[in-house]
Amino acid sequence: MNKTAINIQMVDLKGQYRHIREEVDAAVLEVIRSAAFVNGPAVKQFQAHMEDYLKVKHVIPCANGTDALQIALMACGLEPGDEVVVPAFTYVSSAEVIALLGLKPVMVDVDPDTFNVTADIIAEALTPRTRAVIPVNLFGQSCDLEPILALARARDLYVIEDNAQAIGADYTFADGHRQKTGTVGHIGCTSFYPSKNLGAYGDGGALYTDDDELAQACRLICNHGQNKRYYHARVGVNSRLDSIQAAILDIKLGHLDAYAAARRRAADYYDAAFSDVDELQTPVRHPRSTHVFHQYTLILKAGDRNALQAHLSERQIPSMIYYPVALHHQEAFKEAMANPGTPLPHTEYLCDRVISLPMHTELDEDALAYIAEGVRAFFK
Ligand SMILES: *Cc1c(COP(=O)(O)O)cnc(C)c1O
Repeated sequence: MNKTAINIQMVDLKGQYRHIREEVDAAVLEVIRSAAFVNGPAVKQFQAHMEDYLKVKHVIPCANGTDALQIALMACGLEPGDEVVVPAFTYVSSAEVIALLGLKPVMVDVDPDTFNVTADIIAEALTPRTRAVIPVNLFGQSCDLEPILALARARDLYVIEDNAQAIGADYTFADGHRQKTGTVGHIGCTSFYPSKNLGAYGDGGALYTDDDELAQACRLICNHGQNKRYYHARVGVNSRLDSIQAAILDIKLGHLDAYAAARRRAADYYDAAFSDVDELQTPVRHPRSTHVFHQYTLILKAGDRNALQAHLSERQIPSMIYYPVALHHQEAFKEAMANPGTPLPHTEYLCDRVISLPMHTELDEDALAYIAEGVRAFFK
């Protein structure tokens, strides 16, 4: 048993900063000295580096991931009352923007092993009013996107990937070619919220697309619908990425693959440690996707989850429930939903049974051993 005092967090941003402090401090000071706080060279540079990294034609930075989703829906030209299919097992933003724009969220179930929506599930929810789907690449791996794309092509739907949790993951097509998640559908949306895999030191987000027209529309919408200063072609929003955040993100982008590898090492450790615990289902990795482990989420197949959380908490091991209440049960969507009352049994099962363990880039062997032992002790 480990006797050293271990300070374990769900996410360790201070520890991560210690390794990149000099670079980050210099970059932030440089922006301050230049006073180019909005749309400065740091934003342009980060945008170009993201385009290279993702191998995508256009990256459009914006203020946060929720805005990215909203701007994507606006760019697709959807009309009030149009239906948008979205999983109910996700963060609120994925569906919130649909309702906010007067569109109708159609909440669907997910595959209980991968936590992700599938083409078959989406197919069942389509109606003549469906115009778009938002596959959410949840917890760090891609949905099986190729069949979703095929369905969307056949039914003339937009595919807007919510890639807030899976930046850097690769999706592999049947013919073997690989693409970064978020660049597979028409538009990908991401968040640079501090705890995300590519996190700023404040809010930030981006859209990505290979489609010139959609990119143009997104850029216009981000900037008050303005095509020339003080000339507004359409109603837009004010959604910008700060230069300071861009400078920080540009540094962290250089570490993103190493960060993903560190997360994967932690996940591999957990997987091995829990392989013989019958009550736990460890995360199922889809063969078509790499996994960047935004979260490491277990399913407690049998037993009392509250008791497990209390047991971990006594040992100073944090844990979280992502997500305790599915979106189709949220008060906020009662009116807006196109399909109220539809039972989503997998989603409900997961909301009752999932538990996420600490997952970040700074988990060392001692911390992992301590956490794994703490979890295992509950089942003895
Ligand atoms: C974090 C997150 C968002 C929203 O991003 P913000 O930058 O916080 O607005 C959207 N969707 C998912 C799945 C997320 O995890």
